[in-house]
Amino acid sequence: MSETYHNFIDGKWVPARSGKTFENRNPANQEDLVGLFPDSDESDVNAAVAAARRAYESWRLVPAPRRAEIVRRAATLLEERKEDLARLMTREMGKVLAETRGDVQEAIDCGYFASGEGRRLYGDTAPSEMPNKVAYSVRMPVGVCAMITPWNFPMAIPSWKIFPALVCGNAVVFKPATDTPASAAKFVDVLAEAGIPDGVVNFLTGGGKSVGGPLAAHPDVRVVSFTGSSEVGRVLARECGTRLKRLSLELGGKNAQIVMEDANLDLALEGVLWGAFGTTGQRCTATSRLILHRPIAGVFLERLIEAARALKVGDGLNPSTQVGPLVNEGQRETTAAYVEIGKKEGAELVSGGEPVTGRGFDQGFFYRPTVFAKVRPNMRLAREEIFGPVLSVLTVDSFEEAIHVQNDTPYGLSSSIYTQDVNRAMRAIRDIEAGITYVNGPTIGAEVHMPFGGVKDTGNGHREASHTVLDVFTEWKTVYIDYSGKLQRAQIDNH
Ligand code: NAD
Repeated sequence: MSETYHNFIDGKWVPARSGKTFENRNPANQEDLVGLFPDSDESDVNAAVAAARRAYESWRLVPAPRRAEIVRRAATLLEERKEDLARLMTREMGKVLAETRGDVQEAIDCGYFASGEGRRLYGDTAPSEMPNKVAYSVRMPVGVCAMITPWNFPMAIPSWKIFPALVCGNAVVFKPATDTPASAAKFVDVLAEAGIPDGVVNFLTGGGKSVGGPLAAHPDVRVVSFTGSSEVGRVLARECGTRLKRLSLELGGKNAQIVMEDANLDLALEGVLWGAFGTTGQRCTATSRLILHRPIAGVFLERLIEAARALKVGDGLNPSTQVGPLVNEGQRETTAAYVEIGKKEGAELVSGGEPVTGRGFDQGFFYRPTVFAKVRPNMRLAREEIFGPVLSVLTVDSFEEAIHVQNDTPYGLSSSIYTQDVNRAMRAIRDIEAGITYVNGPTIGAEVHMPFGGVKDTGNGHREASHTVLDVFTEWKTVYIDYSGKLQRAQIDNH
């Protein structure tokens, strides 16, 4: 059953000013229309930002513990509705139910974690260098924040941004990906029900260029928090750079799992299957490369091929499905294009490499879990983000070569090494260029109270989640109070 959804501006659900809409359909079954959504434009952006700007002036004065109570209530509502929200999310973007439940759970965890911050938001106190003077620092809200998000974590990623931004006292304009507007609308609905004041959270659906572009460029938007492709991240970096806006970027990845000869191979196999084919390979932290130490490479590859072929592809709502569809035809075409590139580059296709067709599959964007062997580090297959169920296997002769190959991409988000040797593990932790390193675990599986983000082309130095996200959504203010009753001059040599 489909629904007609609206934008949320100044506390009211409203259609796009133009009256235009776009459709969102189930990627497992294109006959299933999930909903109709406002196809917004710059005039809707202007209305949303104006509402946020107005609401900010009173919201910033609400004590942080009170702001946090609303966030906590929202998390409780998500908890109550978790199953329905997960089902809608699977219908909307395809990943299997166990994973969409996890997506909603991540938002719940984030809500509880961020709400605790309402009673912390710690600053520093320090002694002054002068008598009868006090020095301390406090976190201040920044203003209106634009949240622009991708489709692969429809609720978790918005929650990582919106919950902490609200606790910090900012107002929000949220633009989700066009493939996942329903989950995003439900998330906003929960905030409205939890009692967020009118205008503090605003929500617009529509295209990247028509909504995301004007939103990021709007002079009253002070922070742009973006998760998505490096390509769009670069566009926003130019835009925000010329306007001197704060910009937090969480971008692509080309993550690798290393398996050394001393590893527990059963564990490593389970890890790579989950890391490479979970969410149909559509995670920024997906395992896109597998780096095998030569002594175990042959035997491991054989087991991998067998296990990849056995994975059950299908509709994510079916409990026995392990790999859902790709999110849209474009993602499937990109996957197919990389398979052709891999073949032309001389890599060996050992599993998958084709869409799944036939009864039950014709109306969806299904693709077989794909493995390429004999991949070399300079191939596009080993360097570029694919964002589909394609795993490239590379073989190395030593630990040093494994680390070198692991680091030999433009990205640096997640990484993993399977080894029983603590010395190797410690050197890997030190030498891998990535924001996240797992030892004896796959490249996916972030926890919301730990910093999340990457180095090199994966971002611009910010970290979401944890308390580190507060640096995105607050400005530091340093306060000096002089109670000496006379002019005391700092930065002057008084000795
Ligand atoms: P995308 O970059 O195409 O879109 C992301 C968002 O930006 C969408 O809401 C889109 O509408 C909007 N957008 C597009 N063009 C825009 C423009 N010119 N101006 C402003 N906004 C614009 O990414 P996607 O396809 O939705 O998601 C997949 C990408 O996201 C992958 O590269 C993946 O690695 C990345 N990702 C990164 C993380 C992370 O935390 N590092 C997490 C999830 C996904």
